Amino acid sequence: MSLLRFKMVDAAINHRAVEVNVPDGRPSDYFAEKVFNRAAMRKYLDRKTFAILLETMEKRAPLPFEVADSVAAGMRQWAMEHGADHYTHWFQPLTGGTAEKHDFFAEPDGEGSVLEEFSGKLLVQQESDASSFPNGGIRNTFEARGYSAWDPSSPAFIVDTTLCIPTVFIAYTGEALDYKVPLLRSLTAINRAATEVCHYFDKNVQRVDTYLGWEQEYFLVDESLWAVRPDLMLTGRTLMGHESAKNQQLEDHYFGAIPTRVISFMRDLEYECLKLGIPVKTRHNEVAPNQFELAPVYEEANLANDHNQLLMTIMDKIARRHEFRVLLHEKPFKGINGSGKHNNWSLGTDTGVNLMGPGKTPTENLQFITFLVNVISAVYKYNGLLKASIVSATNAHRLGANEAPPAIISAFLGSQISGVLDKLAVDRDDDDIRFDAKNVFKMSGISHMPPLFRDNTDRNRTSPFAFTGNRFEFRAGGSSDNCAEPMIVLNSIVAAELTQFKKEVDEMIEGGMKRERAIYKKLKQMINACRAIRFDGNGYSDEWRREAERRGLDCENSTPLVLDRYLDERTVEMFSSMGVFSRVELEARAEVKWETYTKKIQIEARVLGDLTMNHIVPIASRYEAMLLDKVYKMSQIPGLNAQSDIELIKKIQNHTAQIQRMSDELVEARKKANPIEDQRQKAIAYHDTVAVLFDEIRYHVDKLEEIIDDQIWPLPKYRELLFLR
Ligand code: ADP
Ligand code: MG
Repeated sequence: MSLLRFKMVDAAINHRAVEVNVPDGRPSDYFAEKVFNRAAMRKYLDRKTFAILLETMEKRAPLPFEVADSVAAGMRQWAMEHGADHYTHWFQPLTGGTAEKHDFFAEPDGEGSVLEEFSGKLLVQQESDASSFPNGGIRNTFEARGYSAWDPSSPAFIVDTTLCIPTVFIAYTGEALDYKVPLLRSLTAINRAATEVCHYFDKNVQRVDTYLGWEQEYFLVDESLWAVRPDLMLTGRTLMGHESAKNQQLEDHYFGAIPTRVISFMRDLEYECLKLGIPVKTRHNEVAPNQFELAPVYEEANLANDHNQLLMTIMDKIARRHEFRVLLHEKPFKGINGSGKHNNWSLGTDTGVNLMGPGKTPTENLQFITFLVNVISAVYKYNGLLKASIVSATNAHRLGANEAPPAIISAFLGSQISGVLDKLAVDRDDDDIRFDAKNVFKMSGISHMPPLFRDNTDRNRTSPFAFTGNRFEFRAGGSSDNCAEPMIVLNSIVAAELTQFKKEVDEMIEGGMKRERAIYKKLKQMINACRAIRFDGNGYSDEWRREAERRGLDCENSTPLVLDRYLDERTVEMFSSMGVFSRVELEARAEVKWETYTKKIQIEARVLGDLTMNHIVPIASRYEAMLLDKVYKMSQIPGLNAQSDIELIKKIQNHTAQIQRMSDELVEARKKANPIEDQRQKAIAYHDTVAVLFDEIRYHVDKLEEIIDDQIWPLPKYRELLFLR
């Protein structure tokens, strides 16, 4: 072991579990204590202000300026009493992370001291000079103004000593520059469309909310070891590293006993989450060594997404306290599973009905089938777009590998629901189909269908979009993603589908058809039309790929090309008719995605070049020189045979030569790609000519790792990185 590596491995072994910060007492004592929630509002706001604010929150309307000052005053008092001295608008720019710029609560009064200052104006809206956030050309430098505006539907909270106010981030000309604006718009669109469809079944429904339950997967590595892996530090993944002889083959990590150091970290993290009102619920070891998962109880989608964004930030902070680094990269290590973020998605009415779950009455079940069919039909029509919502330079390593959903979107429904749809689809128009009073699905000619029950057992882990009894689970998302992106797409396409459905059913009703008959007729058409999206088999198999191509599903797997789906004419039309994105916004966002793709690959290429030429090749040469010296000396003594050493030298020669040759190629490819002005073309060039070399170079580096003296190998090996205790 090299001295540095030895020191770091030694440090890692000696890192002990850090003392946990969690106080005694019940979680209910501290749950949401750092959130300006309804309880806090009631306490810190006067009755009238509270009532107006509540209404604003429920309607997702902007806060009237008249009450903004009193809300701000109450919020400031609460925040200061809870240890805050700064405030910030907290938003989600297209970098993928969150942004904050802290301001002190006090301002100079011009007479040598300070006045506490936090007006309604500062709470509600701020101009931001943040012209260096990605904006895809929407804000060129002379129109560099943008502003952030409070989203009262997500409560303010305190992190450390800063009051964080969730805000949207908009260009001066009104275009969205973040994830929250389109997410909120998509929630409005689906609320509108779904409520109208609900009225076929229940006139009392006034609102339909979207729910999101995410499951966050992540890796932990020891901080000392992380610090001597430039690839982990700078790209979040290992660009090289031979597989450990033992990794996940024995399946002994999944749901196994959680290492002591990790449990301390998790408890601290959960405590922080609970104080921030994040309803964390589940924690466990994941499949790969050092891989874990955290899942909360699902919440309204906008809040759930803020909570996930917040979680990713605090995870990182808490991990450092525990001398870990948290890796949210989708594929930090080759040869073992990567990390995703499942998005569990459902719709619920203000009358308490989950539209994605079988109901208690025949009407509820017809309603459920209606929504379910609309969802899969939407997913069918926009399967390429849904894929576009989760592709990235980092998730590309995961999709299509035999562990994560394939890079083809299909829907799994399970045998029961599939059976119902198949029967509906063969119904003749004059058949009488209905759910009878006992909730049994009946059709003439088919005497009996089992009642629908919640079916949680029929799981298909290989499906990217699976119905799991009372929700759909979209599993293709990456661990580092902002969930808003897939949620925006899913909400919008389902809203568009429901709108179309309503229009056509209404036309049939106006033409004299009975309502239920019209609904069935339309559903039947849709079930037949979207059959291709339904796939209950093994999504990892090669046959599926060929089959999916035959079915006309989107099988493209080059990230830059998949992103084209955002700009398909019918997509642009769909988003704009749903009021979610304008063409300009879509173009800008696609631009940002291509640019981000290029930059990530560019950084990886640089780090790889640096590692191979500064770390690996020199060490290989040193070992080679030792061998050469030995062979030379051996040749001086008659009767000694140096053949196997010569073979070894040849191998090293071969691998280093290949590495050097391809490293040069890598530089050349970048030189060629860099001057390309068009972001799409540039991303394609990076994908086709730069990224393709990574695995080939790595192959030779990993071969060298196998044969070079362990005493001098510079980088911590997988077996050292991967087994926390
Ligand atoms: P699994 O790993 O088996 O999928 P988990 O318990 O880890 O199951 O995660 C299930 C996730 O689904 C949780 O976040 C949970 O809150 C969420 N969930 C459960 N019911 C719903 C629902 N109706 N709508 C949205 N999310 C839901
Ligand atoms: Mg799940």
